[in-house]
Amino acid sequence: MLEIEFWWLVALPVFFGLGWAAARIDIRQVIREARNLPSAYFRALNLLVSEDTERATDVLVDMARAERGNTELQLALAGLFRRKGETDRAIRIHQSLLQEATLDSADRQRVTFELALDFLGAGLLDRAETHLTALLDTPLEARALPKLLSLYSAEKEWAQAIETARRLEQASGHPRPHEIAQYWCEIAQQAFNHSQDAVVVEAVEAALAAHYKCTRANLIAGRLALRQGDADAALARWQRIESQNAEDLPLVAGLIADAVLDGGAGAMDQSTAANLLRGYWQQCPTVDVLDATFKVVTRAEGEAAASALLADAVRQKPSLLALSRQLEHGNAGDVATLRPLLGQHTRRLSQYRCTACGFRARAHYWQCPACSAWETYPARRVEELNIYD
Ligand SMILES: [Zn+2]
Repeated sequence: MLEIEFWWLVALPVFFGLGWAAARIDIRQVIREARNLPSAYFRALNLLVSEDTERATDVLVDMARAERGNTELQLALAGLFRRKGETDRAIRIHQSLLQEATLDSADRQRVTFELALDFLGAGLLDRAETHLTALLDTPLEARALPKLLSLYSAEKEWAQAIETARRLEQASGHPRPHEIAQYWCEIAQQAFNHSQDAVVVEAVEAALAAHYKCTRANLIAGRLALRQGDADAALARWQRIESQNAEDLPLVAGLIADAVLDGGAGAMDQSTAANLLRGYWQQCPTVDVLDATFKVVTRAEGEAAASALLADAVRQKPSLLALSRQLEHGNAGDVATLRPLLGQHTRRLSQYRCTACGFRARAHYWQCPACSAWETYPARRVEELNIYD
């Protein structure tokens, strides 16, 4: 029922368009041209529609042999070869097309783009890059840029990735702050590993200029400051993450705890840090924040305060990870908090799971209600399958 309605939605404008066209085109001319098309063309089209690419290719190869000068036909054939994974044959066709002196510049660009896709498919990235960059400043630039961007990203050519992303932003009108900031962070991290401190500083600032909420930039900047012996500056950097994105606090809590407990020059005092991290746990109650807070509280306020912290954490935000921390530190906890927590987890673990699509269900099915496959439900519960995701 739905399909019919959708079909009409598409068909109506088409019919209007046809009516418009019929008034302007000599319909007899169209019929004459259609009659002139070789029947092999329709045979190939039919086979393609029925997804028999193997036989469609055979038909097209025969046709292409008879009509060497037909660029469209050669392009269609090469496209089929690439789709079948025979990239070497696709490359040969595209390369010989490019050698045709009669090819106009628009077709030359199209073939160049197709050839670049062949090279990408074959993993020949250098040659793909050459052909894609040849398309910059042509009408095909907007199609070449995304391919070029993923190529530079795969090759970890971050400077070129940034330049390409900027160009793509202009061509498409869609800003890409997250990606550009991450490319800068890749440069910063590399420079950090090679002790090129000036480059780190520059790249971190560029990342934040591209995306002011880039937490990774401040993480790296803090690490650099700490390595340079300025714990105060490191802590200031890391504390900025709270206002950038509180969801990333687990990534910084451990760093803050270690810097404070190492007691480097200018580090904040331990009880200030304990309160800071308690605040972080309220904003983002994860086990990593809890671990960091526990370490600092143990040192600053003693074991009793630390074990009270764990008990509070399990009560406020019950999780098996938090509970295991509580048990590790010699506190058995109380069964009242344990029972609902266990119930919640065992409910999840006692489901059945489709091996074809991953759909979970409380009952066992012979046919999956999600993907309709048969006999894809093992008669074992999720926990017994050793799947915990
Ligand atoms: Zn399924």
